[in-house]
Amino acid sequence: MLCQTLKVRRFSSMLASFNVGIWKIGLFIAISFLVIFFPNVSPASTSGKPFSMPFAGPPSYTTWHVSQMYGNTKIAHMQRNTVYDEGQGLHFGIDFSAECGEPVLAIGDGTVFSIDGPWGAWPHNVVIYHGNDLYSVYGHLRVRSSHLAIGQAVVAGDVVGLNGDWQDPENCTVSPHLHLEIRTDSMRRAVNPVDYIDANWDDSTLGISGHLFEIDVSNLGRWQSIYDQPSIRFGGPILNNYYKRWIE
Ligand SMILES: [Zn+2]
Repeated sequence: MLCQTLKVRRFSSMLASFNVGIWKIGLFIAISFLVIFFPNVSPASTSGKPFSMPFAGPPSYTTWHVSQMYGNTKIAHMQRNTVYDEGQGLHFGIDFSAECGEPVLAIGDGTVFSIDGPWGAWPHNVVIYHGNDLYSVYGHLRVRSSHLAIGQAVVAGDVVGLNGDWQDPENCTVSPHLHLEIRTDSMRRAVNPVDYIDANWDDSTLGISGHLFEIDVSNLGRWQSIYDQPSIRFGGPILNNYYKRWIE
């Protein structure tokens, strides 16, 4: 009787360890499946975007908001052969509307690459190199920080200058805004800052108009989202000479 009880206990213990083994194998297969098919899933992961916003605090009517997105905007389309012709007819940065004098912040760590260089963003501009062939360009600054020098190290959040109004730098009565670009390919190509700056972009326009894109009748769905915009090669052909644009 004792022997039989022992046998039963041994059998139960084998069954228990077998169950633990099955459970472990099952867990291993499940994790392997997740890693293979969903490599970016991680409870601790963030957006993975390296940069932050050039203004402090959340967007609002009285602080800052995006007034023109990057890419195939209606504004750029209207001026594709004049203001935006060097950038293939598209808006090669993001415009942030803000009061003159609002501090403009470095979006990431790096070194000062250029001060008031030939980047067309009058009256003052600053370029920071972040490594990995990525540059940020801060244009239409009213005042650039006097302590900046080429080659100097900066960290994210450092003040690079004060926001300005390039059309009325003295009185700021026309359109005070920061023009922010992210460039690559040794400054020869602009990319969509939305892909590089960790932010709530959907709220950044306050629902006003900065998200409006021109529609090409022969290619209706193309470049209609803030997340779907082409990179821009400076000096390349105009990309938005549409045969016919959508008229609502
Ligand atoms: Zn702009």
